[in-house]
Amino acid sequence: ECADISLKDIDQVAKSSFPLCMRYLFEKLKEDHHLKHGGRMQLGLFLKGVGLNLDDALAFWRAEFSKRVGLEKFEKQYAYGIRHNFGKEGKRTDYSPYSCTKIISSTPGTGDHHGCPYRHFSEENLRAALSRMGVNSRAMEDVIDKARNRHYQLACTLTFEALHGMPCDAGINHPNQYFSDSRKILQ
Ligand code: SF4
Repeated sequence: ECADISLKDIDQVAKSSFPLCMRYLFEKLKEDHHLKHGGRMQLGLFLKGVGLNLDDALAFWRAEFSKRVGLEKFEKQYAYGIRHNFGKEGKRTDYSPYSCTKIISSTPGTGDHHGCPYRHFSEENLRAALSRMGVNSRAMEDVIDKARNRHYQLACTLTFEALHGMPCDAGINHPNQYFSDSRKILQ
């Protein structure tokens, strides 16, 4: 159903249609040219779900990681993991993108950027991230209130509604659902 995303559109699409958890990983990757394992898994499987094919996924990660670790080390240490996510290595399991429940229950450590920002960010950092995303001050208080009361997916749903000016009656339960619902509205 949702049209596959090509590499040239990815920056624009990340801004308009990625949920905060993925947008944050995406920005950190561009900033640091690196993500630790948990972040590579969470973002990598999401991008696969968005329709990035294996060649584009390899090109995407290579472009960033090679700036930090060099091409050779990328091919040796990281390309395998990407092919693995696509079921091309190891047990050839075709790994599925993570749901909100799985992401919310993860436990990011120091230097990790994966997880759900509504749960894992401090209130101050969450406010800053939401405001960068374009959430207005009126919606902000409702989102923060939901996050404070541990209704993380509701907080994400309210963010979606504030950014799209449309109700999301089903609620957000998967980052790839956030993405496809957003594309349906914006395309
Ligand atoms: Fe991502 Fe789900 Fe958290 Fe939204 S509620 S930021 S989609 S994990």
